[in-house]
Amino acid sequence: MRDRVYLDWNATTPLRPETRAAMAAAFDVSGNPSSVHSEGRAARRLIEDARAAVAEAVGADLRSVIFTSGGTEANALALAPGLHRNGGEPVRRLIASAVEHPSVLAGGQFAQSALEIAPVLSSGVIDLESLAAVLASGPPALVSVMLANNETGAIQPVPEVAALVHAAGGILHVDAVQALSKIPININSLGADILTISAHKVGGPKGIGAVALSTGLEGLHALVRGGGQEQGRRAGTENVTGIAGFGAAVRAATSSMGADSVRMKALRARLETGLRNHPGTVIFSDAVARLPNTTLVSVPGLKAETAVIGFDLEGIAVSSGSACSSGKVQPSHVLQAMNADPALLQGAIRLSLGWDTTEADVDRCLEAWIKLSGVLRKATAIGLEQF
Ligand code: PLP
Repeated sequence: MRDRVYLDWNATTPLRPETRAAMAAAFDVSGNPSSVHSEGRAARRLIEDARAAVAEAVGADLRSVIFTSGGTEANALALAPGLHRNGGEPVRRLIASAVEHPSVLAGGQFAQSALEIAPVLSSGVIDLESLAAVLASGPPALVSVMLANNETGAIQPVPEVAALVHAAGGILHVDAVQALSKIPININSLGADILTISAHKVGGPKGIGAVALSTGLEGLHALVRGGGQEQGRRAGTENVTGIAGFGAAVRAATSSMGADSVRMKALRARLETGLRNHPGTVIFSDAVARLPNTTLVSVPGLKAETAVIGFDLEGIAVSSGSACSSGKVQPSHVLQAMNADPALLQGAIRLSLGWDTTEADVDRCLEAWIKLSGVLRKATAIGLEQF
């Protein structure tokens, strides 16, 4: 039996062996990729090879991929006023779905006060009618809608969103950070104009991400200036080892995606069947298409922070579906946007599986859940403070 069971793969993933090997090899490539000598060209080859892997994973043109320091920077770069297509009108306002990652809700290069929110339904899926109304209320907009939610795993109807956005003369940004290597991605079939991803969610290193553009998108300007790297769109000597690790991770992740997804779906079904044995259990977004690895669960009266510690003491790493900012646990903005029952808001726990999760891991998690929910039952029955 393993010492620890890791069920927090949406937070981050362990390095894949392929990533480790590629990074170890890249550490010995000492040149600066901008140098013209042989050492420099060797470093450049690593970057361009990784770029090809990333471009292929999202169906984008090789030259459109820009490496960044992660998903957060990729989102900040992508949310740019002035984006336009083939001489069209540049976008002047930003609309984001209410369940976006904080790095999108921060507004990128738009003033945060200029951000308009498109609501979601109680399933966690974007409300297309409301989006159409927001789009119709002003000039062409940049719209940001994630492909899959990091908390619930809900998959958004991105092609339908794209049709609405384009009909209104807008541009669509898709945060595909959580979807990468869990479901197939193709920038063109999604109808995305600009798409963002991150390495550490797919077995790559932390601190590397990328933006991919669809053909004909113009108006993206560097956020980090002062060098010609990444075709002048992201200055600074490239993180060669990180980029090489990203390329290796994305190749390995996409080649095993089909088999991993089937396995994770079966494991998640086993997990959710067990969780539902506890009366009152609610699994969010379970009626809509979800990532194969994600379960966001809550039971009335459960306090997520206490439960996460309880799981940790049982040797299991899970996360709460609420954000911890400045030491205070806030109810999840995603669940609030979904109008979740206030009794469930404080108790949401996210269980996210990965490529090496086993049946034994799931069963151990369920044993811990029974133990913890038993404590909960007793505590509530005798009127103790909820745990
Ligand atoms: N977007 C989504 C949906 C995420 O889940 C995350 C990370 O949790 C990010 C963006 C940010 O990515 P990074 O951690 O690489 O900055």
